[in-house]
Amino acid sequence: MADRSFDVIVIGAGPGGYVCAIRAAQLGLSVACVEMRETLGGTCLNVGCIPSKALLQSSEKFAEANHALAEHGVTVERVGLDLARMQARKGEVVKANVDGVAFLFRKNKVTWLKGRGRIIAPGRVEVAGETHAARHIVIATGSESMPLPGVEVDEQAIVSSTGALALDRVPGHLVVIGGGYIGLELGSVWRRLGARVTVVEVLDRIVPTMDGEVAKQFQRILAKQGLTFRLGTKVTGARKGNAGVTLTLEPARGGAAEEITADVVLVAIGRRAYTEGLGLAELGVQLDERGRVKTTDGYATSVPGIWAIGDVIAGPMLAHKAEDEGVALAEILAGQHPHVNYEAIPGVVYTWPEVASVGATEEELKSRGVAYRAGKFPFSANGRARAMGETDGFVKILADAATDRLLGAHILGPDAGTLIAELALAIEFGASSEDVARTSHAHPSLNEAVKEAALAAHGKPLHL
Ligand SMILES: Cc1cc2nc3c(=O)[nH]c(=O)nc-3n(C[C@H](O)[C@H](O)[C@H](O)COP(=O)(O)OP(=O)(O)OC[C@H]3O[C@@H](n4cnc5c(N)ncnc54)[C@H](O)[C@@H]3O)c2cc1C
Repeated sequence: MADRSFDVIVIGAGPGGYVCAIRAAQLGLSVACVEMRETLGGTCLNVGCIPSKALLQSSEKFAEANHALAEHGVTVERVGLDLARMQARKGEVVKANVDGVAFLFRKNKVTWLKGRGRIIAPGRVEVAGETHAARHIVIATGSESMPLPGVEVDEQAIVSSTGALALDRVPGHLVVIGGGYIGLELGSVWRRLGARVTVVEVLDRIVPTMDGEVAKQFQRILAKQGLTFRLGTKVTGARKGNAGVTLTLEPARGGAAEEITADVVLVAIGRRAYTEGLGLAELGVQLDERGRVKTTDGYATSVPGIWAIGDVIAGPMLAHKAEDEGVALAEILAGQHPHVNYEAIPGVVYTWPEVASVGATEEELKSRGVAYRAGKFPFSANGRARAMGETDGFVKILADAATDRLLGAHILGPDAGTLIAELALAIEFGASSEDVARTSHAHPSLNEAVKEAALAAHGKPLHL
């Protein structure tokens, strides 16, 4: 006999799971959500998006006070760093967010089943020794940091992103293994606070899924900020000693090994799906070659009545992608016919300047043989960017050569993560670059650079 019975039991309360639970409850289903953490919100709210953005914001203010205010005629006598206060503020930001999810669960009558969930049979979930029944079970168990053989994480000297968010002193030398967005964001935080930062990346470029031209200029800007890059280099071993960690580096294409020392090493080589203890093998739920739960377009797994969304399935490991899937799946379970447009999911790196993209990169269009027009506009020609003193970067728009339909957009610059939203909307609506160019954009705003890039796709920018 089941202890309690629900229409839906969601396992995992990250942005995928908690959003799915709330939407399903809004649609009249009885819903429980299983979470084994002390607080709701998953990786994103507890040890991901939110704490990293809190530290990025605080460290940006520190860097601005140190290096940028004088140019504006603002003089500051002495800039100090109270890292304990900065970390405490981060904790307050996280708490406000995770408490917010608990409030939303109460408001929408979603039951939180506390503990680790295991699916013991289709329609049956065991949590803390009790068995609960559900017509539908949703796997939303997210992801974990990918380990690097030979470089064992202890969250003290060798840390994952979780440890890098919690350091209680600024390391003298931080080595970041991995030039993806998590490594670059956290590397930026500690660089701004005074650490020497070296990024070691096995590929010949950083942020490998982003547009190549953007990535090149982005790297140049980060280098100006003091980050050192060792591209085409792999880390093959780590030795801990009194003086920190000694890493062995080797050229990715072969060659002589060398050693470098670090006070702290951040392993940020990617994330992998987390399915431990769920009982999937016993149930026959199929995984793909990368350990992700295999699903149909409609999030059904290979076992009827069991569904999956978010980081644990294929696709970009992003909080808003997980949320969009959570909403869509709840609507499917309520008998509706939703759709997630995977061509219109933006990706943002929250360094300063920010990097944001949506849709196809130039490299992707070339490899698919799509004829396209590119329009580019630099922030150095945008009035608002000049007034802000933030002229690094550009907007690039890619449109179909025959139909002018927007295919991709890439922004490196101030507030790129906010600017990209209009282009995600434009792609969602099937807009052309001319539609964007003819839309009135407030003056003086950073968004005018988007309009000008759209005009440039037809060779006619007004301010260049
Ligand atoms: C440092 C960092 C920064 C990031 N920054 C961004 C960003 O700026 N923007 C962005 O879009 N994305 C960002 N991400 C990625 C984002 O956090 C993930 O894409 C997102 O959290 C995925 O949501 P999810 O719901 O699929 O899984 P998760 O958020 O991982 O949640 C899964 C939850 O399931 C729980 N769980 C797992 N197994 C069980 C079980 N058997 N029983 C009970 N509970 C279980 C876990 O405890 C966890 O709370 C960042 C990630 C990191 C690490």
